[in-house]
Amino acid sequence: MPRSCERLALVGRRGKLLAALHKSDCAARANYLVTGTMRRILFIVAVFLTPLAVFAAMVAADRMFGAPGRGYDYVIKVDLPADGDLAGLPKIEGPLDAGRPLVVIDPGHGGKDPGAGSGKWREKDITLGLALALRDELLRGGGVRVALTRGDDRYILLPERSVIARRLGADLFISIHADSTEEAHGVSGATVYTLSAKGSNEAANKIAARENAADMVNGIALAGQSDAVSAILVDLSQRDTQARSEEFGNLILREGQGRIPFREPTGQSAAFAVLKQPDLPSVLFESGYINNPDDAARLGSATGRGTFAQVTAAAIKAYFARHAAGVTAP
Ligand SMILES: [Zn+2]
Repeated sequence: MPRSCERLALVGRRGKLLAALHKSDCAARANYLVTGTMRRILFIVAVFLTPLAVFAAMVAADRMFGAPGRGYDYVIKVDLPADGDLAGLPKIEGPLDAGRPLVVIDPGHGGKDPGAGSGKWREKDITLGLALALRDELLRGGGVRVALTRGDDRYILLPERSVIARRLGADLFISIHADSTEEAHGVSGATVYTLSAKGSNEAANKIAARENAADMVNGIALAGQSDAVSAILVDLSQRDTQARSEEFGNLILREGQGRIPFREPTGQSAAFAVLKQPDLPSVLFESGYINNPDDAARLGSATGRGTFAQVTAAAIKAYFARHAAGVTAP
């Protein structure tokens, strides 16, 4: 028996292989043994690969028919903002110290609501220019945090403007406007307004009606703020806020003396919807009349914007300095 046959015979002492040892043809015996080995290899491969194949088939089936929550294409993880999260609100600029006072500047109108005026002078552009100048002036001076309700040309409902300020935790709110009126030729100058149900005079009520009309479509109020304003005005708890608002308005008049032409030497009041937050001292600054050439030139120029910003920033800082020192409103 050749050496290779001997070795094969030893390997095959058990089972069927023993029968092959009686065959005289060594090549046949070797062939038989190779076939048997192949069968064993195939068996071992099948033992290991079958579970893998079954698992792969299950994964494929799950991908094709899997239920939501278990499949790969259905699960969307969303991290909801926690209470007090500022997601979606305008950014606050200035010192990182949250203990610093925060003023929110509201450029009136915007987007599809141009406000007063037309052509070269549109209120929404004038107010944005003034608001950006005021922001820059405050940031230059330091010590005060600043946010804008809008920093570009976009539409915001009136009630949302003060709600943004409140959610940001504002200490002071100033809404900037510029009026235009056909019925008052020759009228010019700025006016400082605070919130009041009655209105200091007929003209103030008309201006408030014009400003509040920004949210009116065919005479229907989009957000129903009239009721909210009325409800808040009867709330006695607003008296302190009212006093602080008037104090801030008087500071604007004081700082602007001789620098900004005021139409009225004292603060005015009317039912402006944008001033409705009961616990947020707020002022509406009508910076002038767009249809008056002198006012338009002042409001549309870098010099005029600079003066507006310096005066208003000085009033804001004086207001915060008083309240940081514990001075209460008269
Ligand atoms: Zn306006």
